[in-house]
Amino acid sequence: MAHHARENSAKLEREVRAQRAEISERLTEIRDRLSPGQLLDAALRSTGTRQYASRIGSVMVRNPLPVMLIGVGVLWLALSNDRPPHLTDSRRTRRKGHPREGNTLMAVSRDNLMAWLRDAHAMETQAIEILEKQANRLEHYPELRAKVRAHLDETHRQAERVEQCLHQLGTDTSSFKTAAGKMIGTAQQLSGLFSSDEVLKSGIADYAFEHYEIASYKMLIAAAAEAGEHEVERSLQENLREEEAMAEWLGHHLPEVTRQYLHRQAAGQSAKV
Ligand code: MG
Ligand code: FE
Repeated sequence: MAHHARENSAKLEREVRAQRAEISERLTEIRDRLSPGQLLDAALRSTGTRQYASRIGSVMVRNPLPVMLIGVGVLWLALSNDRPPHLTDSRRTRRKGHPREGNTLMAVSRDNLMAWLRDAHAMETQAIEILEKQANRLEHYPELRAKVRAHLDETHRQAERVEQCLHQLGTDTSSFKTAAGKMIGTAQQLSGLFSSDEVLKSGIADYAFEHYEIASYKMLIAAAAEAGEHEVERSLQENLREEEAMAEWLGHHLPEVTRQYLHRQAAGQSAKV
């Protein structure tokens, strides 16, 4: 019996390793062939990819965080290149009082700022998607759930602030809505694969995601300052403060959540969520 179990788990390990190698090989191959924008479209259309996704389900259940982070990274890459070349935006949308020509530092910063703000909007849309799922679960962890719900409200406001920033820069916000939609679909796929210690895996993912947001806003704030867009800079600083507060709360409370999880399991209660 024990021998069979060992053999089975060794076999599973081998399969997982083989799948991992295959996935990374496939990704490199696809990336070499296509632009990131095409990559995303093709990936979402292809039935091969969908079959792949279900086959690697077991890998995802055991390693949801790395998979999620790879997802975020790949999507960021795809979205960040799925737009017209730089230095077209500000020429098209330059407002009165912004008489700039050529590749000045300010103009370059402004163009990048607009592109990165679209990424940030997609990021917040994805955050809403993830937090909404958690807000309706986590029934055995009321403190964590309350915090998740509070941050969900904040996140809605953050997304609006980012949208405001884009309007302030004179950007048309119709095009980035599609990109955000693509991200949501993928987020849904990923978040549907839960493990038995879901609450802890969610905690790790949330903690990582907050730091992803923190890094993004630090970058955006620097770009806004270089672009001389001080009102945008202030809005982004508000978002940054909220992300930092959420990250800090999670950092302090994850050990307690872990203890709750272990106590529930030891008491024979449902420890899941
Ligand atoms: Mg956020
Ligand atoms: Fe956040």
